Amino acid sequence: MTSTTRAVPGAVSRAVPEGLTDYPPPDRWDHWAEYDPRAWPERKLRSYTLIPTVCFNCESGCGLLAYVDRETLEIQKFEGNPLHPGSRGRNCAKGPATHNQVYDPERILYPLKRVGKRGEGKWVRVTWDEVLDDLAARIRRAFEEGRHNEVMYHVGRPGHEGVMEWILFAWGVDSHNSHTNVCSSGARAGLAFWMGFDRPSPDHANARVILLVSSHLETGHYFNPHAQRIMEGKMKGAKLIVLDTRLSNTASLADEWLSPWPGTEAAILLSIANYLIQTGRYNREYVRTWVNWEEYLKHEHPEAPRTFETFEEKLRELYGRYTFEYAAQESGVDADTIRRVAEYVADCEGRLATHIWRSAAAGNLGGWQVARCLWFLNVLTGSIGVEGGTSANAWDKWVPRPHKLAPHPDRWNELTWPREYPLAFFEMSYLLPHFLKEGRGRLDVYFTRVYNPIWTNPDGMTWLEVLTDEEKVGLHVCLTPTWSETAWFADYVLPMGHAPERHDLVSYETHGGRWIAFRQPVRRVAMERMGRPVQFTYEANPGEVWEETEFWIELSWRIDPDGSLGIRQYFESPYRPGEKITVEEYFRWMFENTVPGLPEAAAQEGLTPMEYMRKYGAFEIRQGVEAPPYREVDPALLADATVDEETGIVYSRVEAPKPLHMTPHPAFPGDERGKPVGIKVGDRVLRGFDTPSRKLEFYSRTLVEWGWPEYAVPTYIKSHVAPEKVNRERGEFVLIPTFRLPTLIHTRSGNAKWLYEISHKNPLWIHPEDAARLGVRTNDLVRVTTEIGYFVVKCWVTEGIRPGVVACSHHMGRWRLHETGMERWSSALVDLRRTGEGQWQMRQKAGVGPFESDDPDSKRIWWTDVGVHQNLTFPVHPDPISGMHCWHQKVQVERAHPGDRYGDVFVDTDLAHQVYREWLKMTRPADTHSPDGTRRPYWLLRPFRPTPAAYKLPEEKS
Ligand code: SF4
Repeated sequence: MTSTTRAVPGAVSRAVPEGLTDYPPPDRWDHWAEYDPRAWPERKLRSYTLIPTVCFNCESGCGLLAYVDRETLEIQKFEGNPLHPGSRGRNCAKGPATHNQVYDPERILYPLKRVGKRGEGKWVRVTWDEVLDDLAARIRRAFEEGRHNEVMYHVGRPGHEGVMEWILFAWGVDSHNSHTNVCSSGARAGLAFWMGFDRPSPDHANARVILLVSSHLETGHYFNPHAQRIMEGKMKGAKLIVLDTRLSNTASLADEWLSPWPGTEAAILLSIANYLIQTGRYNREYVRTWVNWEEYLKHEHPEAPRTFETFEEKLRELYGRYTFEYAAQESGVDADTIRRVAEYVADCEGRLATHIWRSAAAGNLGGWQVARCLWFLNVLTGSIGVEGGTSANAWDKWVPRPHKLAPHPDRWNELTWPREYPLAFFEMSYLLPHFLKEGRGRLDVYFTRVYNPIWTNPDGMTWLEVLTDEEKVGLHVCLTPTWSETAWFADYVLPMGHAPERHDLVSYETHGGRWIAFRQPVRRVAMERMGRPVQFTYEANPGEVWEETEFWIELSWRIDPDGSLGIRQYFESPYRPGEKITVEEYFRWMFENTVPGLPEAAAQEGLTPMEYMRKYGAFEIRQGVEAPPYREVDPALLADATVDEETGIVYSRVEAPKPLHMTPHPAFPGDERGKPVGIKVGDRVLRGFDTPSRKLEFYSRTLVEWGWPEYAVPTYIKSHVAPEKVNRERGEFVLIPTFRLPTLIHTRSGNAKWLYEISHKNPLWIHPEDAARLGVRTNDLVRVTTEIGYFVVKCWVTEGIRPGVVACSHHMGRWRLHETGMERWSSALVDLRRTGEGQWQMRQKAGVGPFESDDPDSKRIWWTDVGVHQNLTFPVHPDPISGMHCWHQKVQVERAHPGDRYGDVFVDTDLAHQVYREWLKMTRPADTHSPDGTRRPYWLLRPFRPTPAAYKLPEEKS
């Protein structure tokens, strides 16, 4: 290590000791000198200001340190921010590759407006003022005419916390749309029915057993922060168990890798639960105290004595059939292996860290029950909200409230929350084009933000058809840091910043603890440090790349310049009454007023909270696990408390103080007794869980009352790809299309050259037995036929997949319609033709190859492959309860046909609509199944929750 990385004496407390160090000490971040490696062998010192920011390349929110050259303001590189509590100075390959994204020679630098037809690829550069004025006038007109639901904001990767609640509540719209149900609805629903919250937060580092139904070490939830803590747990002796049909990187490091037939995971988990139940090796006291067993007995066994012993007897009866042998028969996993895993779980001593994301919960009809059955193991072992166990995300996350938040909107948008899916988590986003085709509504202004539905979603051609129809989508505004298949079909393409080009506040449940981090536009911060004020971030970024927060402030101000719509008031500065808020003031107010401990920590260093966050980029609010359900209720709330004698729920009419945070919580409207605030446990009143019973809901009255009594308790639902539904003799397989590649990020990694050099193909994983049966070898072409079309791909013969199952990563197959101008590092040039009514044929004309650009590396591209776009050939499969798109599917695999070429795709969108209609028939709509005339149970989490009045179904339909 050179002397340039030595710490200096007299550094602040964060400085590392004198001697060899991993990171520059923070007290020297503002003036850091290093030799320029490119100048070698000349010893040329370069001077940097190091500015912390936050990676935007997956949801983990890891810290980055940008090395900004003090002379040129160029960003030399990104390293980890050692002060970030989640990532602790470490990053995956995608963190440093942020540099590629910033200096991508093909990035969009200026706002562009379409000329010619949509999709023709003709653009003119426009100013931000022109964009803002045009959009503001159009949105204002929609609001004045009461067409609020025609303005929609649809986000792929949010990457920030709280901003859109601030904006959309101020606009008074129920217009948020997300990508959640092509990603995580299944896992969310399974967890939320238990405990109110919909994401797990495992304490891997302190666990005795880590049980993953997922493949996170290599995916993105929460890739790097979890990976390092899983390894920490392993080094301390934890057993790592992975259920994944495919041998993922995670599975390859596991003590036990279970490769079940897709969709049978719940059978395995229930057999483990059954083992704990039958042998009595569960935490009786925990279950007695925290599970709603009385409610279960009352409704399901009203004649039986209401005792815990009766409940235990019923449990033994309910789950007795889930033997290891049964689970083995269903899943194909050896019974002894499952038994071994059950032993580990039984011995976990209340330290079972579990996680599920995507994977089985996102692949299968009923996948949400996999998450519910996994959480059952946490419940039985008492591993909830304790060290080494698993918490709810909201306990480890902190989203501060802004200075002024508008009331919840009094509107309901049926384009996102249709009546057929009253329990969905969350918006039925990928059905939007089908809803528009059916005439359920139209969109006047449709914002897509870091979202590429044509490529990411199933059934992309239906998206393309709708996005090119100006009757259905009046104006499509694409806010994006990169070109994408979807941006090509927009009316405005508005360049938004990458990680070092924007302000965002982030907080994620990466471990047992709580932190916030501050993403910053590093050149702007550098300029301001050097005394060069900047009004708007696009003045400091490359070209006129902007940031969303400033964009939304400016747009909102122009929609309501005189305040007559009631919007302007939310965008007035808390420091300068009546004047427009600045982005700096927006964050400054939250840091000063809503982050526990931050003002004090800053004051200790003689800094303001804003200066502290600018300097260090992160703040740790809490270390260690803390679980609100076990906390005593504030005595002030109990002044007029009423206790429900039957349930033990405590109600209070005392107005609780407004929380400083806005992390979504379940909501309870309350009754004449007030709102539920806790539950009696012995002679204490504890907060309890955020469910109607204030307990962990083994028995879900919500599911029963909303028409699904067969799923009242955790159970195993046969997937749409269950083994008996797949005829292997006829060449049928199950396709697993849900896995990521560890080095890529959906659309945003397109021109990240280092990443594409590492990963640029997505062959079909196939077991040697199946390959032999089909007569194919690695690199042979196969045709994979789905319900609505087919794709042609190469195969990779590997024992890392179960026989009868094939797998293909969705992180590949980017395409473009024009030779130049977009994503040439990662996309194939294709010919896309409409060959009949609803029929689309895509053929690759060329893969990637060297090209001229401002970056000399573009001439050195040595690979040609870009993979195959499989998602185009998938119909939508909405789970009738969670709303999750069930990605796994039955396919036919055969040798490629004569004339087939690598990358060929064929799709029939009429067939796609028929499949959508078939799955729609499985729903039990609110119109016919709502127990109380509402659209959705009010307590269930819902982002951008409207007022209770908006939950009411219209009279004539209820
Ligand atoms: S894990 Fe995610 S947030 Fe962290 S460095 Fe990698 S891509 Fe960035």
